[in-house]
Amino acid sequence: MPTRAYSDDELLMLSGIQHFKFCPRQWALIYLEQQWDDNRLTIEGQQLHRNVDQPQSAQLRDGVLTLHSVAVASYALGLSGIADQLELTPTNDPANAIKLHRYPGLWNITPIEFKHGRPKADASDDLQLCAQAICLEEMYRINIPTGEIYYGQKHRRITIEFTPDLRNEATQLALQMHTHAIEGKTPPARYQPKCRSCSIKNLCMAEDLQKATTVKHYLKQLYI
Ligand code: SF4
Repeated sequence: MPTRAYSDDELLMLSGIQHFKFCPRQWALIYLEQQWDDNRLTIEGQQLHRNVDQPQSAQLRDGVLTLHSVAVASYALGLSGIADQLELTPTNDPANAIKLHRYPGLWNITPIEFKHGRPKADASDDLQLCAQAICLEEMYRINIPTGEIYYGQKHRRITIEFTPDLRNEATQLALQMHTHAIEGKTPPARYQPKCRSCSIKNLCMAEDLQKATTVKHYLKQLYI
């Protein structure tokens, strides 16, 4: 049985884990300072999610039950959010299966996440999906070995295995998010190549701040 490490009031948004993995400053600006700047990538992502977000809807087709926009939470991770889609497949094995009131039988759960782009260089999408799986495991006391991510630009799903390493990284990132949230500190800007594709680069101003620091440093050297 998972340890209830956090209270309801302490739960952070699960979707933040992908931002925190990409850049802790980005996460802090969005989730601690509530700053957001819609760029093309995020608007495309919202459009894709609008197609998926049909709260509380369920479809049974070819024996597969699909649930949309399912609320999930883990008190061990201290995260809560919405899973885009859960695919439930019938099983005869009671281990790792759940029961539903409206749909008799036993069901295995596979979480599905929808992303507008293509697979990223880092594991941020995998970690978000893994955190969802950890939530579902805690909620239903089951084990979920894999999930799937649909990438809009690829028009296909890829399977993500929830390895011990991935689970450990998701747990560590959730812990770090809580540490930052308690301290309430936004990490300083540090310009990196990935800043070019950052959804809030105009708000962060990492490049401008770096240039200002470089000029200041240059001027300082001139007058020493
Ligand atoms: S611009 Fe760079 S440093 Fe700033 S939030 Fe984005 S990734 Fe982080």
